[in-house]
Amino acid sequence: MADKRMANRVRQDRVAIVGGGIGGLAAALALIRQGIDVAVYEQAPELKELGAGVQISSNGTRVLYALGLGPAIEKVGVIVAGKEIRLWSTGQTWKLFDLGAVSVERYGFPYMMFHRGDLHAALLDGIRRERPDAIHLNRKCVDITQNADGVEMTFERGEPAAASIVIGADGVQSRLRAALFGADRPEFTGIVCWRGLIPRAKVPPGVKMDVGTNWVGPGGHVVHYPVRAGQLLNLVGLMERDDWRVESWTAQGTIDEYLNDFRGWHPDIHAMIRAVEVPFKWALHARPPMPAWTRGRVTLLGDACHSMLPMLAQGAVMALEDGTVLARCIKKYGLAPEALQRYETVRRERANRAVSGSADNAKRFHNPDLAHAAGAEAYVTREWQEDKVKARYEWLFTYDATGVPI
Ligand SMILES: Cc1cc2nc3c(=O)[nH]c(=O)nc-3n(C[C@H](O)[C@H](O)[C@H](O)COP(=O)(O)OP(=O)(O)OC[C@H]3O[C@@H](n4cnc5c(N)ncnc54)[C@H](O)[C@@H]3O)c2cc1C
Repeated sequence: MADKRMANRVRQDRVAIVGGGIGGLAAALALIRQGIDVAVYEQAPELKELGAGVQISSNGTRVLYALGLGPAIEKVGVIVAGKEIRLWSTGQTWKLFDLGAVSVERYGFPYMMFHRGDLHAALLDGIRRERPDAIHLNRKCVDITQNADGVEMTFERGEPAAASIVIGADGVQSRLRAALFGADRPEFTGIVCWRGLIPRAKVPPGVKMDVGTNWVGPGGHVVHYPVRAGQLLNLVGLMERDDWRVESWTAQGTIDEYLNDFRGWHPDIHAMIRAVEVPFKWALHARPPMPAWTRGRVTLLGDACHSMLPMLAQGAVMALEDGTVLARCIKKYGLAPEALQRYETVRRERANRAVSGSADNAKRFHNPDLAHAAGAEAYVTREWQEDKVKARYEWLFTYDATGVPI
């Protein structure tokens, strides 16, 4: 009887996406542009991304351009000249790599820095232009059931909904992942991550606004880069400490606590921390790579299946790639389990490699050899040698989600 009721509701031509973050919206737009009907169910009463930055390398901007968002992202994104490494204590600076025109020359697309809200808004506008009624707010999915024909989603409020295929893009604490594969066991990494924005007028004079900078030190690192067409500097500070374990986009700390985490670090770091508008903090948890993402007519994408530490700056980029490959697979193989299996086969190994690469970078950035300036020079020169940097990043930046064989 229940099966019959679901069969009546299933829209055979529809894909439903649970979660309207960067990953869910990018997948929705990719599906719409493949001519596939899509409905997005988002738990929040309004759609917005909290203030912080996100770096999108060429493999991600390639996807954004293919989604028709070039003009929108060029208005708000920042193309930096390159990336630099700086030493936590003395501020000594090493060039990491050139970006700007070099990224376009080498990979075909720019490396861009965004305010997350700006990137999210560009995706949202892209969807609303094509399908104004695709997004359903206040729809927290609490359960799913599936049979041979379709999937039914139950929500905290309102009527259930059904679709032929369901995609869980519901982030790091994914309900759909738990429904498919059981509860996960995230491990606290011992690293707390501070996030905040600084208005351009308050950026200390020693801090460059035309590059992305990565300060490295024993037990911690700091990343900053310009966002919102250069009006803001995004500051991320990561420090090893054991007393805060909350994984949240909205938890706040104090400037004093933030300063205390970075005591002894360079005065530019302290000046930036003092200029942060609201200091958010997030305890970084690690989840081991997943052996499967799909069950029947339901699959996962983005942080729901491959959340990673932010040290490679690839979490959102991987979600963009996922959405594009998934939409292409559904177009090619139809709204059927086979399409989801193909998607998983094409994507899982690459995403899992990024999960491990991020964890490796955590050790590299926080290495005890960085404690003293003399040892640091040798360590940085060795670890950031051109061929080593190439091995760490080239496989990421050259990937083409729009053309990879499926
Ligand atoms: C400090 C930090 C810095 C980072 N920097 C970068 C970077 O520079 N570059 C990069 O590529 N990545 C970066 N990342 C990673 C990136 O932020 C994530 O990988 C990305 O946001 C994942 O997108 P998502 O859509 O999968 O998940 P989310 O952004 O978490 O979106 C999930 C959505 O699902 C909704 N949702 C959740 N549960 C339900 C439910 N039950 N029903 C309905 N809706 C639901 C949520 O409200 C949310 O809107 C960083 C991460 C951190 C923590």
